[in-house]
Amino acid sequence: MEGQPADKPFAATWSAAGTDVNFGEITRQYIGYLADLPQFTLRTGCEVRHISRTSEGWKVTCHDMHGNTTHTVEARFLFIGAGGGSLPLLQATGIPEADDYAGFPVGGSFLVSEEPQVAGRHLAKVYGKADVGAPPMSVPHLDARVLDGGKHVVLFGPFATFSTKFLKQGSFFDLPATVTSKNLWPMLKVGMHNFDLVTYLAGQVVLSQKDKMKQLRTFYPNARDEDWKLVQAGQRVQVIKRDADNGGVLKLGTEIVSSADGSVAALLGASPGASTAAPIMLELLAKAFKDKVATPEWQATLRQIVPSYGLKLNDHPEELQREWDRTAKVLELALPPPQV
Ligand SMILES: Cc1cc2nc3c(=O)[nH]c(=O)nc-3n(C[C@H](O)[C@H](O)[C@H](O)COP(=O)(O)OP(=O)(O)OC[C@H]3O[C@@H](n4cnc5c(N)ncnc54)[C@H](O)[C@@H]3O)c2cc1C
Repeated sequence: MEGQPADKPFAATWSAAGTDVNFGEITRQYIGYLADLPQFTLRTGCEVRHISRTSEGWKVTCHDMHGNTTHTVEARFLFIGAGGGSLPLLQATGIPEADDYAGFPVGGSFLVSEEPQVAGRHLAKVYGKADVGAPPMSVPHLDARVLDGGKHVVLFGPFATFSTKFLKQGSFFDLPATVTSKNLWPMLKVGMHNFDLVTYLAGQVVLSQKDKMKQLRTFYPNARDEDWKLVQAGQRVQVIKRDADNGGVLKLGTEIVSSADGSVAALLGASPGASTAAPIMLELLAKAFKDKVATPEWQATLRQIVPSYGLKLNDHPEELQREWDRTAKVLELALPPPQV
């Protein structure tokens, strides 16, 4: 609030308990555990280039980026979770459900300060309001982050960028390669129906560094040019879905697409979110293994993993309190009581 009028209203979250989560570290710990199991194999640095049906399920062929060799894996169930790379892989399966989808990439850049004078003094995540037409995950925010090794940085953004790449290190052909005769019309219709979004994106793309610093100063009036640099963060692939009434609709959330026989599922969406991965996977289980999820054995195991499974915690304050206490104990956090 330094430099702001004292009576200016603001909204911010303040995390005295240090609840930032390092999802990379969680992933490493999960994989460390799984790696000891005989039925688990991890292969990294391998690009999936071909997917085909077999009598039992699916065959996946990947190209080893280091050894220039190929590997194949056969499986009864295939899950595609490749971020921006999911749509082309879903299309590679050839399932008819894939025909309903197209992707539109929107990148994000942030102003970042590592300056101790700045990062050491801004320990809050402060959120503004999204511009007209901006997708919901584009709400401008000044975001304190603690990186591996305890380094404090402050980010401000996101600023939308445009590129035809689906992944940060992708190819400019990513977007054209996924356009088909079935999804071209829905894409055009979405462009026609979402004029606010198109205007917002066009406005963002032409912003200069000076304009971006000006936006930062609405949050932090004392920001100095020399303390901030612009960093390209990641690519989001917005989902466009074929729609009988409108031709095509822009989906801003996450979409799990599965085949009619439930043997393949893909996660599409602009920002599935590390923190939303658990509920998304529960949704996937319910969709792809519907019959098994209904059995008492699966229900018991799911409740063991997620004790509140199937309950809306808003309607069960006692269960919410129990979950809250359990989480605080496991993570060794001093959490205030939950607010319902
Ligand atoms: C700056 C920034 C800040 C964020 N902050 C948060 C936050 O605070 N909280 C939160 O919940 N979320 C946050 N997110 C969003 C979150 O990081 C993503 O939603 C999440 O990482 C998506 O996970 P994913 O595994 O689905 O995809 P990704 O993390 O994109 O992983 C997909 C992987 O698949 C690989 N791949 C693609 N194609 C192929 C292929 N053909 N063969 C083999 N591999 C392939 C890619 O190389 C990549 O490694 C943030 C994102 C950004 C960019």
